[in-house]
Amino acid sequence: MVRERGKPMMCPTCKEAELSPHWMPWTQQKVQRCPKCKGMWFDAERLKQALGEIGVVLRPPPGSRLVGRKCPNCLRRMVHFDYPGTFVGLEMCVLCPGIWLEEGEFMEIQTVREYLRQADIVRKASEPKGFKGRLIFAINVVLATLWENLLYAV
Ligand SMILES: [Zn+2]
Ligand SMILES: [Zn+2]
Repeated sequence: MVRERGKPMMCPTCKEAELSPHWMPWTQQKVQRCPKCKGMWFDAERLKQALGEIGVVLRPPPGSRLVGRKCPNCLRRMVHFDYPGTFVGLEMCVLCPGIWLEEGEFMEIQTVREYLRQADIVRKASEPKGFKGRLIFAINVVLATLWENLLYAV
């Protein structure tokens, strides 16, 4: 099953809810967000922008496993992996590639990141080596951007 051209992206969690563009006014960034559960979809463009590189292939780290939730873009099953050093789960479409993050997970990663940063663990886990390093680096940049926007929005 593949999403038809022109059809809106649906939330992988709520299923019947449409994702809609959510602007980040301070950085001119856009994510697709579910109005119901506030889950967020970062597409490949967003991730690559965060990386500042073109032609980079983003892949989930080894040990990722298939989950039931489907990619809002291509409707293939996504893979699940834990953010390094945590039990916070992220879901990714290998094909698109994009990342799905639930609101709770986003907040949790921020909390955990802050803690790990103080312990100097994130830096080590984020060193840009290999696919995992690059992917995590991209996620970190996106999250940092979003986080700044949330702070400003208050
Ligand atoms: Zn939703
Ligand atoms: Zn996909």
